[in-house]
Amino acid sequence: MPELPEVETVRRGLENLLRGDAIKSVKVLRSESIAFPDVASFIKLLKGRRFGNILRRGKYLLLELDGDAGLACHLRMSGRLIVRPGKSVSRAKGKIDSIERGSVREPQFLRVVFTLESGRELHFEDMRVFGRLWYKPAGANFEEIIPTLAELGVEPLEALTGAYLHKAFAKKMQAVKTALLDQRVLAGVGNIYADESLFLTRLHPATAAKNLKLAQLEHLSNNIKMVLERAIISGGSTLRDYSDSSGVNGKYQNEALVYGREGAPCHHCGTLIERLKLGGRSSHYCPSCQPKPRVAKKKIGAKKILAK
Ligand SMILES: [Zn+2]
Repeated sequence: MPELPEVETVRRGLENLLRGDAIKSVKVLRSESIAFPDVASFIKLLKGRRFGNILRRGKYLLLELDGDAGLACHLRMSGRLIVRPGKSVSRAKGKIDSIERGSVREPQFLRVVFTLESGRELHFEDMRVFGRLWYKPAGANFEEIIPTLAELGVEPLEALTGAYLHKAFAKKMQAVKTALLDQRVLAGVGNIYADESLFLTRLHPATAAKNLKLAQLEHLSNNIKMVLERAIISGGSTLRDYSDSSGVNGKYQNEALVYGREGAPCHHCGTLIERLKLGGRSSHYCPSCQPKPRVAKKKIGAKKILAK
């Protein structure tokens, strides 16, 4: 699943490739991929539009178009935006059997094709069909078309500080790991980078968010930024087709300190990495480097013993 660094890598690649090019025609192969407006209007309104800047907010890609229009995209689980040479693949069907990609033959799931003025094509591929595209008309802003955009928390690479987390977590009873994944607090931070940041800060993922001290949260926010920046650099340097989000994840996972390493020795102390479920998500941590927070003894337990 693409997280902030993967989406940022896609953004940088697409901006280099698309800026100045224009959309000649649009073909929608799966109507579910279009969130706004209806498919016929989407096709009609995008025709002739020229790409400008490409922005990112959390995991949303915001492509500015001329005439104050815009195109937004959320890749969700398996979406990919890829610029390909024109007519490189047969697209008679939505599901292309398989095409050669390096040494691996993998199925491609084409949902929307934008034919560009340059003769190239922008493909939106999405195996699981959870990804979405929105057209933004002139005069509106992206937040009006996508209400969840307005609810997003700070951009971790721009505005995250320990003081911000201290305020945001003040009343959060939930585990710090769960609190970090709340997009209303931090935009774009997902499972991998939350686990890695907690390990570097030596915080157990189940620690109650509200119990963390300002100094710990300053340390944590610095580690979140460092982990994200490192992943963007590693993604940017290893991407072959500038939007291979799974490729970035794969590369980062090779470097991960705890994520996906259950049962493997901790790089710091050799203790075996453990995994626990928090808020429905897997958390990977080192039980020695990230000791369990102490819980105050319950008085009721002592009474029961006395009663016996
Ligand atoms: Zn350890």
